[in-house]
Amino acid sequence: MAIQSIRLFGDPVLRTPAAPVVDFDKELRKLVKDLTDTMMDAPGAGLAAPQIGVGLRVFTYYVDDRLGHLINPDLDLSADLDEEGEEGCLSFPGLSYPTPRAVRAVAKGVDMHGEPVTLEGTDLMARCFQHETDHLDGILFIDRMDPKQRKLAMKAIREAEWSGLSAPVIRMSPHATGGRAL
Ligand SMILES: [Zn+2]
Repeated sequence: MAIQSIRLFGDPVLRTPAAPVVDFDKELRKLVKDLTDTMMDAPGAGLAAPQIGVGLRVFTYYVDDRLGHLINPDLDLSADLDEEGEEGCLSFPGLSYPTPRAVRAVAKGVDMHGEPVTLEGTDLMARCFQHETDHLDGILFIDRMDPKQRKLAMKAIREAEWSGLSAPVIRMSPHATGGRAL
């Protein structure tokens, strides 16, 4: 096990677009393992490399008993939206809010060996692909909320016990994200 600390909102790495993976080497395989171990330990439904301080386009997911990873993802989204679905994020411990997302997503990319992968998901799986791919672009779920919701979320974030802690902090999300934080 190689569990890493999860970076919290306020850490600049979460706002930095990640670089495409070009080397499919041992280091990449270790990164996928670290992401998987850290996600499962949290527990979370998804985790993107920037959340453990690595600026590469890699994420892992664990939704509906599907465990996997995707590298250099490219998304194709359905036009129909789920406006009401609750979403959390391991970088915002204990908080979850309705966040509009496409209901279906097709995610294309490669695996850790550089082999092409196409993943299809609906509902939480689709939400996970969108949330994690956003992380790779420095986009956070608060950016996807409607303005009224975002205002409520920002107030809760400012009041959260972890708010303003700039150093990486030991994971601390025993709260009611129901294992759905991403
Ligand atoms: Zn997240």
